[in-house]
Amino acid sequence: MRKKIVAGNWKMNTTVAEGVQLAKDVLAKVSEVPADVKLVVAPPFVHISSVGAVLEGSSIGLSAQNCADEVKGAYTGEVSAKMLASVGVQYVILGHSERREYYGETNAKLVKKIGLALGEGLAPIYCVGEKLEEREAGKHFEVVGSQIKEVLFTLSAEQMKSVVIAYEPVWAIGTGKTATSEQAQEIHSFIRATLAEQFGALAEEITILYGGSCKPSNAKELFAQKDIDGGLIGGAALVADDFVAIAKSF
Ligand code: PEP
Repeated sequence: MRKKIVAGNWKMNTTVAEGVQLAKDVLAKVSEVPADVKLVVAPPFVHISSVGAVLEGSSIGLSAQNCADEVKGAYTGEVSAKMLASVGVQYVILGHSERREYYGETNAKLVKKIGLALGEGLAPIYCVGEKLEEREAGKHFEVVGSQIKEVLFTLSAEQMKSVVIAYEPVWAIGTGKTATSEQAQEIHSFIRATLAEQFGALAEEITILYGGSCKPSNAKELFAQKDIDGGLIGGAALVADDFVAIAKSF
């Protein structure tokens, strides 16, 4: 049985006080979520200790949105995987399209980040997805295939067991445009088949999330697809009722 996960990427939103309140609101409703669905929240770095204190002892996982590609040292402004682990972080989103697009994150850089995260016992939530022009040119399988192969094929099967994948078509992120459940299932199944080339039967055990304007009104249909094991949620994760309603859609 694959793990079902609904993860909230808060991005650069909320003050610490607002983030703490959001975490409290999600915690107050977590009992409504089916027991086999894991909720994860990914607040900004400066919120992590305060939000972690709210979630301590609960079933809700704590994630960061990024980590450095170096171990330690003179890298002004960076936050290492070890620092994250030291404050109780369990997951880290890596390779989000906004990081690839605005901060020049390449597959090569992500190989380093994933290795460091795994080395500190963090579970990477590795994001892949094509841009609109790539989909329109029929290149989505090629783009996603290389994001999977160039990064995840460098891992051992043991390491791969800790990785969660999020397929997020860039054209659907924050745009209100969602991939149809058929489009999403088609790529999720392709990702699983690609993983099987390298990892064999383990591919069936890897959790693959869908992300891109996922909301309470469309989550049910998306999560009903055979290869969709949950969601990475942006905008709707900033409203506790919506985030929990999405997690109740399985
Ligand atoms: C995201 O950026 O991870 C995301 C899925 O955003 P949204 O839900 O707002 O489209």
